[in-house]
Amino acid sequence: MLSNRRFHLNRFFEEHALKAMLFTDLRNIRFLCGFTGTEGALLISPDNAWFLCDSRYTAQAAEEVQGVEIRECGAVRIETIAALTDEFGLDRIGFEAAHTTVTSFRRLSEKLNGIELIEVGATLDEIRIRKDHAETELLSEVATLSSRSLTAVLAEIKPGVREIDIALALELEMRRRGADAKAFDFIVASGERGAMPHGVASKKIIQAGELVTIDFGALKNGYHSDETVTIACGKPGLRAEEIHSIVKAAHDLAITAVRPGISCKDLDEVARGYIREKGYGDNFGHGLGHGLGLEIHEMPTLSPRSTAVLDEGMVITIEPGIYIPGFGGVRIEDTVVVTANGCDVITTADKQLLVL
Ligand code: ZN
Ligand code: ZN
Repeated sequence: MLSNRRFHLNRFFEEHALKAMLFTDLRNIRFLCGFTGTEGALLISPDNAWFLCDSRYTAQAAEEVQGVEIRECGAVRIETIAALTDEFGLDRIGFEAAHTTVTSFRRLSEKLNGIELIEVGATLDEIRIRKDHAETELLSEVATLSSRSLTAVLAEIKPGVREIDIALALELEMRRRGADAKAFDFIVASGERGAMPHGVASKKIIQAGELVTIDFGALKNGYHSDETVTIACGKPGLRAEEIHSIVKAAHDLAITAVRPGISCKDLDEVARGYIREKGYGDNFGHGLGHGLGLEIHEMPTLSPRSTAVLDEGMVITIEPGIYIPGFGGVRIEDTVVVTANGCDVITTADKQLLVL
């Protein structure tokens, strides 16, 4: 039951002495009540919950939402919120500070006259940091779909093909296999472009002997997948092989170290320390990974500055890389679910150096 997820809110009710919390971020709304539409608000008190939408979404909400009362609003949603706060004496309401614009905050303050509006900061996103069984199932399903799509289009990666053609073929394959959309603009970075960690697919033509980094993911039922392979289009040079083997070893070491209780900072250092030892410390500029779920980047963050500690049920990426300006780069990324003793890797494309 989705309403079980509301226990996550108890700490915020207590910490800020709130009578209710107001949600407008669609990911949080989906997580807490199941609504998948693109407009709505959710008001939750310790004893009640109301989903507020306009007439376009009433039928959809009736099908989707669980454990909340649906209130259809007129043109001005805040008036319905104001009526509820009056009726139930909700005079101190928390709102999502990280997802509220200054304009909407001003409007709320004007219309909810006499009600204290309390900022609940980015820690609110911690309600989604540990995935429950239903979520890990959805994440595994989309990860499998995405990995298989890559395997199906590998034959199309060859000299003379543009990066953008690979991105398009991969997206089409994912859609054929049931993805709702791509999870983000795929990175297809070949040759020297591989030195750009976020080199979105361009019109560059892939040349024989180049490494090609492909960072890709699908979106299905609201959940994202994220995976990266670096493959060789024809026989690579010795330096390319060396860099690939260092990144692969760093990736494997980090995955072996994943377990509940390890700090995200220490986990980052497992891979970073290895890459540094091999002489490429200055060529790994980004963090080791990130959480993912209803968003492509969620908590926790894995970096030298992280303060989070891993726990069972978290779903994170492990994605070390080496980037050398003027030469190219390698990144290898898998998504893993933290289990009681270690982790399950849910992305399945081959991470050895494939030579196509
Ligand atoms: Zn990625
Ligand atoms: Zn990633």
